[in-house]
This record gives sequence, structure tokens and C-alpha cells, in this order.
Amino acid sequence: MIARFTDCLRLFSGVFILSLVLAGCSEPPREFNETVFTMGTLVEVTIIGEEEALTDRAYAAILDDFSYMHNTWHPWQRNALARINSLLKTGAPFSLAPSILPLIERSKQLSGQSNGLFNPAIGGLVKLWGFHQDDLEEIFGPPEPAAIGAFLQDMPQMSDIDFKNLTMHGRNPNIHLDFGGFAKGMAVDNTIAHLREFGINNAIINAGGDLRAIGQNGSRPWRIGIRDPRGEDVFASIEISGDESVFTSGDYERYFTVDNKRYHHIIDPRTGYPADQTRSVTVLHSDAATADAAATALFIAGPQQWHSIARTMGIKFVMLIDKAGKVHMNPAMAKRIEFNNRRPDISLSKPL
Ligand code: AMP
Ligand code: MG
Repeated sequence: MIARFTDCLRLFSGVFILSLVLAGCSEPPREFNETVFTMGTLVEVTIIGEEEALTDRAYAAILDDFSYMHNTWHPWQRNALARINSLLKTGAPFSLAPSILPLIERSKQLSGQSNGLFNPAIGGLVKLWGFHQDDLEEIFGPPEPAAIGAFLQDMPQMSDIDFKNLTMHGRNPNIHLDFGGFAKGMAVDNTIAHLREFGINNAIINAGGDLRAIGQNGSRPWRIGIRDPRGEDVFASIEISGDESVFTSGDYERYFTVDNKRYHHIIDPRTGYPADQTRSVTVLHSDAATADAAATALFIAGPQQWHSIARTMGIKFVMLIDKAGKVHMNPAMAKRIEFNNRRPDISLSKPL
């Protein structure tokens, strides 16, 4: 995600915030709305019902947060993460940068819960496919099968990273941390926490279509549109209020096409190839980092395995659109989703 500079024009790739007419309100509360390009994506900040001086200060603080996270967490730039990546490969113990520790701790836990499907240690594989580059037009085809096979022989896992206090060491020379599958979620959680420190309780941080919303949109819940993975339109919509994140992983976000075959950026660590059973997965969860990691993991799990992985990850709301366009949902998600045009072919799972 951090490296997605080419995605900048696709403002709301996964979801849209649908504006509502505030029926019964004589004067709608003040709305602050700004969009900035940061961390490789367009981030839209919406704050409801606060004074201008406060929203301006809060927005400036959020811009600082994003620029710090971008500089520190980018997987392919010279930064704290690059230093850790080069030291992890050596196997020798080293002292860990505190700015990266939360990412490593959370992703180790989420990777374990996803049965290794969410695996941020596979940056080397992401690079082999060329998805570390901003410009995918420079990719002319998939990697040699032998190169993928060699990587699979010694597949790095998050469990290959050991740390105690602030000392860390790696146990696999192929480890290269790429937090693209959940850094956006971590960033959104951090900035929501910062907004709350300012006393702001009604807001959305929408990072390129993945968002966390707190409170309400005036007197109404927030209404979020989920994108059709095979079009630009809103496919379905959902209401959220209180504190909830909506994250979507899709095969339309970053891909190249060779001989009419689409090769996208979400790699199945079991095969070394892009996961090929899913078009998109939308996950709702209270915290954005979990929702982000789960959307990536459930995309790879596909229509057969998403239910069991959602359970181990503690996810309660999932909508998966498979490669044939069929919609798989758990009953609690089905109760909340409204389809925009015609009702698609739906497969309802057991409760989560
Ligand atoms: P997302 O859009 O959140 O599903 O994240 C996709 C990004 O996560 C890719 O561009 C890669 O940087 C990274 N990625 C790809 N495959 C995996 C995987 N199996 N586990 C974790 N991160 C991945
Ligand atoms: Mg993700």
C-alpha cells in the first residue's frame, strides 16, 4: 500500500462515503472536509460539528502523523524499516527501532491468526513480482516459475522473527518486511486516536477507500458505499455508527495484464502466485489494522476458506465476491448490506 504512488488518482478505490440529506435538522452541523495525498494514497479527513480552529489544528497534526509514518514505514526506501530489513537477513541480534516495534508486534499476531495467509515477511516475493514499483507498466510478465519455486523452498514467516525487549533477530535470510497489507489500517488507527485526543468524536479517516468512522454524521449514521470490483459504481452500501472500520482488498487495485490474464498484488504465500479465487473482500471490524490485515488474508483464503480464517481472526462481518461474481457473506453481514441495483447471486454462510 505505501508504495502505491500510481494509485493516487483512484480516490475511493474500495468505498465511497455517501452523503445524506439530514432530514429534520434545521441547521446541519459544521463539516470539515480535506483531502491530501500521503502514504501513496489520497486520504480524506471528515470531521463533523467542531469549530474551525480545532479542526485546523487537528488536521495539521494528522498531516504530520501521516508524513512520519510514510517516511518510517515505507518498505522500499532508506529508512528505519530498511535498516531492520537488512539486519534481519543477517541472523545477528540488533537493537530494534521503537517506531517499527508496534508494526512487528501486531503483524506477528495477525499473521499467526490468519494461519500465515497474511504474511508481511514476503516482501521479497512482492518484489519478485514487481509490485514494489510505483509504475506497473514496466512489468512485462510474471517471474520465472523457478524463481518462485526457490522462494517457496525457504518461505519466510513472521514467526522467523524473534525479539525480546528491544533486541531482535531474524531466522530466515529471505525475510523482507513489507507492511503494505496493513500499514494503512495502522495509520488510520493512529490518526483516529490522535483526533480523539483533540476531543473529536465524529469523524472519518478515509485512506484511498479504506476507512474508520467514529460517532455519527450529524443525526444520522455514516453511510458507506462499497465499490463494484468490475466497475466504477457503488455495488452495495452499509450504515455504520459508533466506531467501525471498513476495509476492502481487491484484484482491481494494482495489477498488470499479460495475454489477457490479470496478475494482481495480493500474493498467496502457499503458491507464490496472486490468489486467484477472489475479486474483492470487504471486512468490518472495530480497529482498522485488524480489518486491513483480515481483508488481505480472507482475499487469499477465497470462497472455500474465508469462514474459518475469519473465525480465527475474530472477524464478525465479511463480504467476499468470488471470481465468478458470486457474493459470499455471513448472516450478520447480510443483514446490514444493501445492494444498489439488482440482487447478486448470494451464498450465505453459517454465522461467524
Ligand atoms: P491490501 O490491498 O491491503 O490487500 O494489501 C496488498 C499489499 O500487501 C500488496 O501490495 C503487498 O505490498 C502486500 N501483500 C501482498 N501479499 C501479501 C500477503 N500474503 N500478506 C501480507 N501482505 C501482502
Ligand atoms: Mg489489507
